[in-house]
Amino acid sequence: MPFKILFATNNKGKLGEVRAIFGSEFEIISLLECEEKINVIEDGNSFEENAFKKAKTVFDKFKIPVIADDSGLCVDQLNGQPGIYSSRFAGEDSDDEKNIVKLFELLKNFPEPHYAKFICSAVYLDENLLIKKNGEMRGRIINEKRGFNGFGYDPVFIADNYSLTNAELPPEEKNKISHRAKAFGSLKNSLLNSRKA
Ligand code: IMP
Repeated sequence: MPFKILFATNNKGKLGEVRAIFGSEFEIISLLECEEKINVIEDGNSFEENAFKKAKTVFDKFKIPVIADDSGLCVDQLNGQPGIYSSRFAGEDSDDEKNIVKLFELLKNFPEPHYAKFICSAVYLDENLLIKKNGEMRGRIINEKRGFNGFGYDPVFIADNYSLTNAELPPEEKNKISHRAKAFGSLKNSLLNSRKA
């Protein structure tokens, strides 16, 4: 029987990536499949704080093993913006398209290359165990959108040592190098070790 874990997300892009990282030993369900809706207010000051808050709120409600993450894009020339505000960079009614338009507007004032990194903080929580892991992916922002895979800022981000954007890479390739793959890959290893112990 696969080990069932509730991923505290409504983001289908993240869910697909995390299911691929965990593989068939695990059954990863998400908030999208839960009838009772839950809204976590992301008011922490860091990726770590927000990831823990999502995990704790969802574990307290459903009482099954939970994973959660908080992630985002940090651009050097923008002093780390949008950071923890990545999903709502263009305001409360923002979407991926509006966020990218705002990013282009701000970066017009700076010379290329626009160095940036994605960061992911991942948390596992059950009644006995808390695991926290981080991952990052460095690269740069280009000034046009390319590709249709992935989500969020993927069409405008090229990872170091690559020439294709994250949205042009096959999903398996992004999943080898991404901030989320690093954070959840290491979380999964710790979880497997703790279950063997
Ligand atoms: P969260 O759901 O609060 O973690 O928000 C994450 C936001 O950061 C997403 O909505 C995207 O805008 C951005 N983001 C995080 N990870 C990625 C990624 O792998 N590709 C593109 N954008 C990402």
